[in-house]
Amino acid sequence: MIIAVDGPSGSGKSSTARGVATRLGLRYLDTGAMYRAVTWSAVERGLDLDDTEAVAERARELRLELSTDPADQFVVADGTDVAAAIRAPELSAVVSKIATNLQVREELIRRQRAIIDAARPTGGIVVEGRDIATVVAPQAELKVLLTADQNARMARRGAELAAGSVTAEQLRDQIVRRDADDATVSEFQVASDGAVTIDSTYLSLDEVIDAISRLAKEAETREVP
Ligand code: C5P
Repeated sequence: MIIAVDGPSGSGKSSTARGVATRLGLRYLDTGAMYRAVTWSAVERGLDLDDTEAVAERARELRLELSTDPADQFVVADGTDVAAAIRAPELSAVVSKIATNLQVREELIRRQRAIIDAARPTGGIVVEGRDIATVVAPQAELKVLLTADQNARMARRGAELAAGSVTAEQLRDQIVRRDADDATVSEFQVASDGAVTIDSTYLSLDEVIDAISRLAKEAETREVP
């Protein structure tokens, strides 16, 4: 079974998708981490992020090891553990530049499909991102669009703000400006055909995981004649 979880930043996709994978014994793929890892590598090499050819070449050459075990996540780029580095606010501020490079998308979508195919024999995978249901895996047995209103999405990142790891301005940039830029290449604000919208504004993480797990069981029953 493939479960696609798409949605804007701060909608709770990562915690939700990982929770569903753990609950159902499935693999888990964080496609955002792949865009972030390419961004990290391009920045580290000092590439001009507007040089689409050079950045695309970097994406094709990058050796990327990504865990699909929901209980043991790691991201290793060209031999360097980048799990923490790819979450830095400076990187979040520029990742959309890389994600709107269509050649980068082509390369990462190819890799994502290979990871999804490899997970098939293990029972399946929960894949989270912006374009999973629409582009990467339209054959997914369950497609979820996870939304939450803008204030709730900002509030969820409030802890980072309180800890001083981001400024209020960076937080707003990460949620509002980033979604606007990302929306120019992926449709994640309205549900695609066959997708179920879950508005998590007033739901706890457990309630969202419960709802998706229930839908997955129903989808599985439909698949088995
Ligand atoms: O989900 P996360 O915030 O980690 O994603 C980082 C960035 O990667 C997004 O802002 C978006 O630019 C890009 N992305 C994408 N398509 C995906 C997943 C992420 O364009 N499927």
